[in-house]
Amino acid sequence: MAFFDRPISEVVKCIQNGEDSCHNVAARAVTLIEEQDKEFNSFISVNKEAALKAAADLDKLQASLKKEMPLYGVPVAVKDNICVSEGATTCASKMLEKFEPPYDAAVIEMLKKAGAVIVGKTNLDEFAMGSSTERSHFGPTRNPANPNKVSGGSSGGSAAALRAGFVPAALGSDTGGSIRQPSAHCGVAGLKPTYGRVSRYGLVALASSLDHVGPMANDVRDIGLLLSVISQPDKRDETCANISFVDNADYYSGDVKGLRIGIAPEYFESGLSSQVRDNIETLIGRLKELGARVIDISLPNVKHASAAYYVICAAEASSNLARYDGVKFGFRAQGVKSLGDMYEETRGQGFGYEVKARILFGTHILSSGNYDTYYLKACRIRTLVNQDFKNAFNSCDLIISPIAPAAAFDIGEKLDKPVEAYLTDTCKRFTVSANLAGIPAISVPYGTCDGLPLGIQFMAPQWREETLLRVGYAVQVLSS
Ligand code: GLN
Repeated sequence: MAFFDRPISEVVKCIQNGEDSCHNVAARAVTLIEEQDKEFNSFISVNKEAALKAAADLDKLQASLKKEMPLYGVPVAVKDNICVSEGATTCASKMLEKFEPPYDAAVIEMLKKAGAVIVGKTNLDEFAMGSSTERSHFGPTRNPANPNKVSGGSSGGSAAALRAGFVPAALGSDTGGSIRQPSAHCGVAGLKPTYGRVSRYGLVALASSLDHVGPMANDVRDIGLLLSVISQPDKRDETCANISFVDNADYYSGDVKGLRIGIAPEYFESGLSSQVRDNIETLIGRLKELGARVIDISLPNVKHASAAYYVICAAEASSNLARYDGVKFGFRAQGVKSLGDMYEETRGQGFGYEVKARILFGTHILSSGNYDTYYLKACRIRTLVNQDFKNAFNSCDLIISPIAPAAAFDIGEKLDKPVEAYLTDTCKRFTVSANLAGIPAISVPYGTCDGLPLGIQFMAPQWREETLLRVGYAVQVLSS
């Protein structure tokens, strides 16, 4: 299936040694997408011309420069809410269908400098609001593991493109689980870094205090490599810390001896399918055999995390999305009679259902009288969740949990029941708390359920991504 079935560093070595060329590799990725992506719809656009030109330019570089580029010739797929100066950045919305950013996001600059070739932009739920990549103006992305199933979301296009073997690396964004959950549903690895580790400059904002850009790949070692490239300091994002991640081959020894893995009962309560529970229990047993220690911890406030997340996310989204008014960006409704009409019609026609629902909800929450009742309370819960993690990490190095209560569901299954989907979307319980606390979290494939991939989540204290890579690689070895 995948022609990129080796770690990225080996693909890079091959090209650096002249066994293959950047142009050949990019052309292969583009051809695969053109020939096979009709079935999955993982890409919104393919920058064929720009990709092949960038690859040809890379081939012409001096040998000494090539050797310095850790991603020399590597085709990368980018979620379509991250600005790339070639082509459109649509956020899977009619509102931005024709928006062509005049600049690259900070992470794109860093990828290009490292020799990566951006081959295309991947599908997502509109403005990254959702968990199935069905709420896209460009239609749903299907899961290559079973095309009747959703790919997860909102970075479902990136996860599906990896699973289908079109590219060896991808970027996603994660506000409440959008890198980790589709990674789990498609059977690939994905990391949400520490808040502030990776610049958000050029990421179209959903909820600025929760948004993260992060790497996705088929191999945990590639996650470390990609993170080391995209985690450079950047003054244009005020929240970007001056702490670059330095990758190290030692992280990938498979050794987890002495690692203290925290288990919180709150993540194993009702709503979990028996296969997901059995699968994670099997893994815990195997990690113990390898010398890891299991520590009982408690995260009492995590049960409120989902509610707090929705309030904070919607509040920030309603403010961030106010800029789409038909004047400055993208779509503008035609045939209107007044300025007021223009705003209303533009936003009414340009946004889809979920985006409008969250803008309404967020505006309601932020209106006077409601601010204290909802928003401030949610912020307090956020502090308590943060405190829970601080306490837990006094006695363990990382925390294990499921990513979602079950494997990927059928396309369309939850689409026409939005309220029910909110209520039953219990995966938030597993993923959003890491966004509220700003701690790093990884999703690694392990096990299957009825032939569909399952993922396991590990969370670590701030800036301790290496612990996640260490355990993630051990899990990868166990499942190979
Ligand atoms: N599924 C969550 C939501 O709908 C998370 C979205 C995200 O991480 N971008 O808000």
